[in-house]
Amino acid sequence: MAEHESLEFGKADFVLLDNVSLEEFMANLKLRFEKGRIYTYIGEVVVSVNPYRAMNIYGRDTIEQYKGRELYERPPHLFAIADAAYKAMKRRNKDTCIVISGESGAGKTEASKYIMQYIAAITNPSQRAEVERVKNMLLKSNCVLEAFGNAKTNRNDNSSRFGKYMDINFDFKGDPIGGHINNYLLEKVGGGVFKCIFQLVKGAPDAQLRSLHIQRDPTAYTYIKVGGQIKVFADFKAVTDAMKVIGFTTEEIQTVYKILATILHLGNLKFGSDGDVTLIENSKLVSVLGDLLSTKDENVEKALLYRTVATGRDVIDKQHTHQEASYGRDALAKAIYERLFCWIVGRINDIIEVKNYDARVHGKNTVIGVLDIYGFEIFQNNSFEQFCINYCNEKLQQLFIQLVLKQEQEEYEREGIPWKHIDYFNNQIIVDLVEQQHKGIFAVLDEACMNVGKVTDEMFLQALNGKLAKHAHYTSRKLSPTDKNLEFDRDFRIRHYAGNVAYSVVGFIDKNKDTLFQDFKRLLYNSSNPVLKAMWPEGKLSITEVTKRPLTAATLFKNSMISLVENLARKEPYYVRCIKPNDVKSPLLFEHERCKHQVEYLGLLENVRVRRAGFANRQLYPRFLQRYKMISEFTWPNHDLPSDKEAVKRLLQGCGFEHDVAYGKTKVFIRTPRTIFSLEEQRAEM
Ligand code: ATP
Ligand code: MG
Repeated sequence: MAEHESLEFGKADFVLLDNVSLEEFMANLKLRFEKGRIYTYIGEVVVSVNPYRAMNIYGRDTIEQYKGRELYERPPHLFAIADAAYKAMKRRNKDTCIVISGESGAGKTEASKYIMQYIAAITNPSQRAEVERVKNMLLKSNCVLEAFGNAKTNRNDNSSRFGKYMDINFDFKGDPIGGHINNYLLEKVGGGVFKCIFQLVKGAPDAQLRSLHIQRDPTAYTYIKVGGQIKVFADFKAVTDAMKVIGFTTEEIQTVYKILATILHLGNLKFGSDGDVTLIENSKLVSVLGDLLSTKDENVEKALLYRTVATGRDVIDKQHTHQEASYGRDALAKAIYERLFCWIVGRINDIIEVKNYDARVHGKNTVIGVLDIYGFEIFQNNSFEQFCINYCNEKLQQLFIQLVLKQEQEEYEREGIPWKHIDYFNNQIIVDLVEQQHKGIFAVLDEACMNVGKVTDEMFLQALNGKLAKHAHYTSRKLSPTDKNLEFDRDFRIRHYAGNVAYSVVGFIDKNKDTLFQDFKRLLYNSSNPVLKAMWPEGKLSITEVTKRPLTAATLFKNSMISLVENLARKEPYYVRCIKPNDVKSPLLFEHERCKHQVEYLGLLENVRVRRAGFANRQLYPRFLQRYKMISEFTWPNHDLPSDKEAVKRLLQGCGFEHDVAYGKTKVFIRTPRTIFSLEEQRAEM
């Protein structure tokens, strides 16, 4: 434990609780929160409670205190975890990752930023210019991604609407030389509430706004009115500057803002009808759009009002109904925003990717990954997005179980170490419920979307009920008619590891198909703005050439989650578990029930149990000897005992650590970190 911390602040590591019970866990968490100790360990996991106030614990002096120290030498802190991940990478040449989880508003993104800052601060002691440049770009890329990917929600004023996994690559000296970002499922909220939109309307210079035909007044735009306003808009210049520093060209930056303006104008576009004919009421906007998209006005108008369909050998223009036109307009706004975001991430990746690194000359280039991904969401009305997000959290929980709980137990069994089995809920069954081939919810959804002809959300629900009636974690009103918690016929409910969530099927089919009329793709591809054109390569195909059905949103998401988890599983993981203390952003309020629920679904108590039953450190016998043989007369310079195992036993007996270790078949297991520190000290004194 962090010994110099007084007990008046509670236990710095939950492992040290007198009794491992939910009550004691909660009491310790609350006490520490109230004393301003927002971080607590469970072994090497950091539990963090959002303080909702500025804390004076992230400055240069604090960084110095944690640099190069062992985890237990200082009070619990994110910096200690960042340092542990960094040390493991540097000393043992291991790829590591830091997985930050927790619900919306729990403090994940803030934590990821502090971790990045820490790593930036402790690397490149020799101030190499190239490394400084890379570090600056990595930090600046955060600023850009936040502007385009964050929005105000009712849970968090600065909510990340995309999941982010960032690799930082290091050279053999341990200095950053590049990075790579993966983004997952940007929530398509019509563009209205993303920060960059406000930054543009409120912060762009007058001349720029005029050229974009945008008024300074956010209330003039339907999408903003629907999405709700936010108060922070001062950052337009900072974001534009960040894009410049990263290396976006002027033309690219201009195009980015033209696209944002396009979205705002699209939102204001109104359709009317004259008899059977659908019209655009405010036709002035058509020429504004033509200007912004660098294409002819009549092309814009045609794409908004007609779609080209191939019937047999003929190609005809079919007019949209009023409703189809409105649907198309909103789909276009969402699609160009999403495409813009992915394009920005792609551009950043082009620029920050590792270049000119020859592993044969410089040794292996190692990686620290930082994952900041949306936590579990339970809203009043949960839809396709929440379903994907919650599935993602099931996957991460499964990884956590595998790495921390299951692997741990299995290793003890393999090594023949006496071990009391710890019961935990294995959520694999829920992961399967969602992702299994042919039977899972995604598969049923995809099948429904494949049908030709009109498939409704209700038909999808029927199919689910048919396939999953017997599943212990699935139900719906049809299957449980007397269940009072299932209010609506359109809902199905999943029993997640984190609790019950009812999802409304309304919109599942549309969101999964995620169709954008081909005509829009062609419109954008045919723009004379090369940046815009490059974003829409599939617009190249004419109507008769488009044959392949694009992958559905669910399949794309599932694939990206599977590869994310595979990637994380190859690395040595460190965990930050974030807890949100209340719903009102108060620095004082610790809402007991709310926190308890999070502690439960994060599986923290099980984590403590396993950790307590377990061993902090384990090493293969020969390795252990190699490192510590010089501290014992029995083993230095060589031992004459029948095996390395016997030699290790003799060494540890000699040091008086017998009580703190167990001997497995191939490895020695050490219970407390203090023993390791002591061995290290003795080694250093030799
Ligand atoms: P989402 O899933 O919605 O993106 P999140 O978990 O990323 O949520 P953050 O944006 O990191 O949540 O945090 C929400 C707010 O809580 C921050 O804007 C900040 O006001 C406050 N906060 C979080 N962590 C800290 C901290 N360590 N110190 C001070 N304030 C914090
Ligand atoms: Mg966030």
